[in-house]
Amino acid sequence: MKRCAVCQVHAENALCNGCQSLIQEPVNPCVICAKPLNQSNGICGECRSDPPSFIKTICAAVYEPPVSLWVQQLKFGARMDRARIMAEALLGPLNSIDNQTPIIPMPLHPKRLKSRGYNQAYEIARIISKKQNRRLFSEVLIRTKHTAMQAELHEKQRSANVRAAFAVNGEIDVNTVIVLDDVMTTGQTMRSVSKCLLKAGVKEVIGVVFARTGG
Ligand SMILES: [Zn+2]
Ligand SMILES: [Zn+2]
Repeated sequence: MKRCAVCQVHAENALCNGCQSLIQEPVNPCVICAKPLNQSNGICGECRSDPPSFIKTICAAVYEPPVSLWVQQLKFGARMDRARIMAEALLGPLNSIDNQTPIIPMPLHPKRLKSRGYNQAYEIARIISKKQNRRLFSEVLIRTKHTAMQAELHEKQRSANVRAAFAVNGEIDVNTVIVLDDVMTTGQTMRSVSKCLLKAGVKEVIGVVFARTGG
């Protein structure tokens, strides 16, 4: 029998309806970076004064418990069942994007990949790719700088931390790509990746994250 990954009751999907309802969708997200705002269809101050090069951010959840716990369990505790929860939560929102649009999982630096043993973004992207028949470009984007964990830094340090931390390896033969990450905090990592992809000839980057923090 299939069971809910959280409360173990019978469920066809990763979560039962009760646990599904614990996922809070973002309210009034910024149309570009999904930061929560006070009114709908707005653009946050940061996106207005310094527009990112990605066109929008699709986000399934607000980074609050229990969602934040699931994210940490996947990232630090190898709980692969959490990746399925996150992938399933993103399937609906991603239906609006043509399935010819491939997914690029946010890469980890090889050193971090080695110490963690897996890339949580890849684990989520892999499931979505299979369910929506999207190509998965998992080797095209590489992390060239072994940066500190964004969560360990103050806001001002974050931008500098991820600047020029990525490179494109080989060629990308499509105009639009999805870049998928588990969480977006300030959006600096997505900004940096997006810049790098546009330089490599991509025309449009769509950010997709399972959860978004308020900051
Ligand atoms: Zn449940
Ligand atoms: Zn914004």
